[in-house]
Amino acid sequence: MKESGRRILVTGGAGFLGSHLCERLLAQGHEVLCLDNFFTGNKRNVAHLLSDPRFELIRHDITLPLRVEADEIYNLACPASPVHYQRTPMQTTRTSVLGALNVLDLARQCNAKVLQASTSEVYGDPQVHPQPEQYWGHANPVGVRACYDEGKRCAETLFMDCRRQYGTDVKIARIFNTYGPRMHPEDGRVVSNFIMQALAGQPLTVYGDGAQTRSFCYVDDLVDAFIRLMDSPREFGGPVNLGNPEESTMLELAQRVIALCGSASDIVFRPLPSDDPVRRRPDISLARSVLKWEPRIGLAEGLGRTIDYFRRLLDDEQPVREHSLHGQ
Ligand code: NAD
Ligand code: UDP
Repeated sequence: MKESGRRILVTGGAGFLGSHLCERLLAQGHEVLCLDNFFTGNKRNVAHLLSDPRFELIRHDITLPLRVEADEIYNLACPASPVHYQRTPMQTTRTSVLGALNVLDLARQCNAKVLQASTSEVYGDPQVHPQPEQYWGHANPVGVRACYDEGKRCAETLFMDCRRQYGTDVKIARIFNTYGPRMHPEDGRVVSNFIMQALAGQPLTVYGDGAQTRSFCYVDDLVDAFIRLMDSPREFGGPVNLGNPEESTMLELAQRVIALCGSASDIVFRPLPSDDPVRRRPDISLARSVLKWEPRIGLAEGLGRTIDYFRRLLDDEQPVREHSLHGQ
């Protein structure tokens, strides 16, 4: 395998995390094949990369077999927000499971390394806190989140079996809540919801009493970790937790977003969705020791950058929004 200028396939490359990863890989001098079916992603996320001759955008659904040449594969294709993945739940499971099988078949054909974007959701509503990789989790197999949780758990099984059966160089990243520019403004995730609401002067919708916790990682830190994991020795496949251990309640997050936006918005309380995990924080000891990685960007700085992005997005979209309103 070439050390520099590798050919790298990113499935789900037109999504939030994928678009940042494509950008970083191009900057490192690689050739990037960005594959997406645009279910939740958008060509706009990678429009600025299209003029680079080392970048190629392919419309494809990973539930169907793939035929391309690659040295490395990052498998990110899958809707990630609960609102999106619950909209067509059977397609979500299909994407995780058939997608993993297709990506692993391709990796074997090309003798490529392959990284799976797994999730902290494999721990379900965890009874161990913070969550280490050895914890097997507490997931409801028949609840509304199962299409995602169980799909991702099955994908991890397929990746580990492929390593054991065929010796494929697989890497499993268990990603904890990650945020930043290019999140879909209407995907229902808490960071995008709160920022959009605060900037519009609307009430921030805290689900439940807001005492549930999450730990938020800024996208640039996560992309660093992805690349370190892909470059890690063959013997190391994970799973490895990737996330920022800085934990906060959703009520604290809402107050912080209001303050950072300089907004006069109120907070309102809405029903808690079912199976919503109560606490979540990664134990990142393994990533620290093996990948020599830890996040650098704290919540205040990351939120600031994300707020700037959404502000620009709203400014740019203003004429479009006004136009479509007048057209109604
Ligand atoms: P996203 O929805 O922005 O990106 C997912 C991308 O996959 C989109 O571009 C979408 O169009 C594409 N896609 C979906 N189904 C597809 C299919 N069948 N074939 C081809 N493309 C398909 O979400 P994201 O936040 O960028 O998440 C990327 C990956 O990281 C996902 O696998 C997600 O499960 C995982 N992850 C993300 C987070 C997070 O906090 N952002 C946390 C845990 C895991
Ligand atoms: N949440 C909230 N208000 C919102 C959206 C989400 O209080 O407008 C809560 C949600 O109930 C969950 C947390 O924020 O407890 C994180 O939700 P998100 O959908 O971002 O991610 P996930 O639940 O997958 O971690």
